[in-house]
Formats: sequence, structure tokens, C-alpha cells
Amino acid sequence: MPKPPPPGQCIQCWQHSYDRRIHRRLRRGEDCKPCLDHLHTGCPPEGKVPKKESFWW
Ligand SMILES: [Zn+2]
Ligand SMILES: [Zn+2]
Repeated sequence: MPKPPPPGQCIQCWQHSYDRRIHRRLRRGEDCKPCLDHLHTGCPPEGKVPKKESFWW
């Protein structure tokens, strides 16, 4: 990751939009399952960066 995601941001969505290698592994026309998952069901709260009071890094 070039920079860590800000608080409240979904870590997976952040990684997938910034680390192009993740999607480059997919075949042409193939959908990214984790991205589709978040697109349809929304980003899970536990997958997001916690707000300021509970930093874990
Ligand atoms: Zn993706
Ligand atoms: Zn997400």
C-alpha cells in the first residue's frame, strides 16, 4: 500500500483501488469477487479502519 487507509475507510476497497496488482491477476472479463461482495452487500464494519480512539498499528 502506498499509504494507509484513513479512519472509517474500508481496508479491502482501499487496497484494491491502490494496489493495481490485485486486479491485474484477474483474467479479462473476470470480476473481482471481494470487490463485488463489498459492492453488493456493503463494506463490513470489521473490515474498516477503526476511528481514532482505537488504532491498531
Ligand atoms: Zn478488487
Ligand atoms: Zn469495501
